[in-house]
Formats: sequence, structure tokens, C-alpha cells
Amino acid sequence: MQQEANRLLQDGKSIALVPTMGYLHKGHLSLMREGRKHGDTLIISIFVNPTQFGPTEDLHTYPRDLDRDVSLAESAGVDIVFAPGSYAMYDKGHQTYVDLEVLPLYLCGRSRPGHFRGVATVVAKLFNIVKPQVALFGEKDYQQLAVIRRMTQDLNYDIRVIGVPTVREADGLAMSSRNTLLSKEKRCSALSLHESLKLAQERVAQGVEDARKLIEEASGIIRSHPYTKIDYVALCDPDTLEDVERVEGPSLMAVAVRVGKTRLIDNAILTP
Ligand code: AMP
Repeated sequence: MQQEANRLLQDGKSIALVPTMGYLHKGHLSLMREGRKHGDTLIISIFVNPTQFGPTEDLHTYPRDLDRDVSLAESAGVDIVFAPGSYAMYDKGHQTYVDLEVLPLYLCGRSRPGHFRGVATVVAKLFNIVKPQVALFGEKDYQQLAVIRRMTQDLNYDIRVIGVPTVREADGLAMSSRNTLLSKEKRCSALSLHESLKLAQERVAQGVEDARKLIEEASGIIRSHPYTKIDYVALCDPDTLEDVERVEGPSLMAVAVRVGKTRLIDNAILTP
């Protein structure tokens, strides 16, 4: 991959990278469509990165189908699919990690210790391997996008990071590879994430500013659905991810909910 990237760059071709864990859906395709506009060569990576999964998480049950992904990528105009094996990304002696000090202390980082260390490390490695000038990430994984923007700046990567809005199913459920793990009833309960965000947005539009009240009401919606277990419902500053007490300017509401065994996340910027 590095040789190919060098060749492309020597030929004056710019590279846009969309990192994924595969099992592609319309959210990924939207990143690719945007990526096409920003590079001569569009490269996607498909790698279920073991270092971002905790010991009790779903690394082994994470859905995979490389053949299907490759044909979807091809029809989306992707030039190269980079799908390394874990041995190629982490050899036995691997011991270098990228760790951010503050952003991982919030939201998903609280219940997934080490997750963002794994994310930042693998993205840094992908940047060094694929050598893109532009990289695209989804706003669905808001904290991940914040971590990658910070890392790119802190480590002086000469890469433009572009955030792409969340693609949803017709009923509002944010697209996710993990949605395929939901039974019909659990998929219904999964809608509560989007419903809770919509309610919060409406309440903010009505003038409600108190974060505690907004969180309580949003949590109530989620709890009213069977199979749900809230990991967090948070209202925070969109840049620092620190909790806010009042929604006086654009604020991030982020939710993480276990629906059965499947952990789902979603978020929205609430604007008074
Ligand atoms: P994943 O394969 O889940 O690691 O996701 C790969 C990239 O696609 C990440 O940058 C995600 O934020 C992005 N992504 C995942 N789901 C969506 C979605 N529904 N809409 C937009 N981007 C998404």
C-alpha cells in the first residue's frame, strides 16, 4: 500500500481516504461520495481494529463480508480497497500507541477505556500507510471525529479531515453495521435513540435550557422502550465535550444505549 501511495503521489495524484471497519452501508457510501470530490484517487480501508475493542466487547461477532464490501466499493467508484490482516497492522512486537489526554475522558471513553487509544493509533497508522491529503469521517461517531481532528493537529499530519453528516434510515435510525445484529423488536427499540434526540431538539426550540431536565426527558423516552439500557445521555460542549448545565448556544446531545446486546450511539447538535 505504501509503494502504491508513493507511486500515486509521484504521478501527481492526490489521495482521499475513508477508513472503515467494513460491512458497508449507505453511511459509508456517503463518505465515499464526498471523498470522490476531494481526491484523484479514492481509497477505503477495511479493518476491524482489535485495539479499539475491550476484552468483553464484540470484536469477534462484529459483522464482516469482504466480498460484498469490495463489490459495493467498486460500484461507489472506489479505486483501492486496503484490507490488511491484523498481523500486518500489529506484529508481535508492536508497542507504540497514540493516546490523547482529555477528549477520551468523556462520553464513550468512560465506558470503553482504551477505545480511543486504539482508534487514534490505527488512524495514525492508516495515515502513514495510505498517505492521504484528505480523510473523511462520519459525524455519527462525533467523539471519534473530535479525537481524530485533535490528533491530526497535535501530530502535524498534513491532512484535511472532513466530517460527513449522519445518514439515517427512513424512520430516523442512524445507519450502522451493528444494526444488522438487531431483531425486529430490538430494531423498534433502537429508534428510541433518534426519538430522544428529536424530543430534546423540540424542547430546546421551545426554550428549555436546563441540561438536567433535557437529559431526564430524553432518557425517559429511551427507558420507555423494552430491551434498552442507557450507557449515557449527555449534553456537552461540541468542541471540548465537557458537560454543559444550560443550553445557551449550540450544544451536543450524545446518547449511547445498549439494545439487547448491541451498543448503539447517536448524537445531535441542539440549537436554541
Ligand atoms: P465504521 O465502519 O462503523 O467504523 O465507520 C466508518 C466510518 O463511517 C466512520 O467515520 C463512521 O463515523 C462513518 N459512519 C458510520 N455510520 C455512519 C452514518 N450512519 N452516517 C455517516 N457516517 C457514518
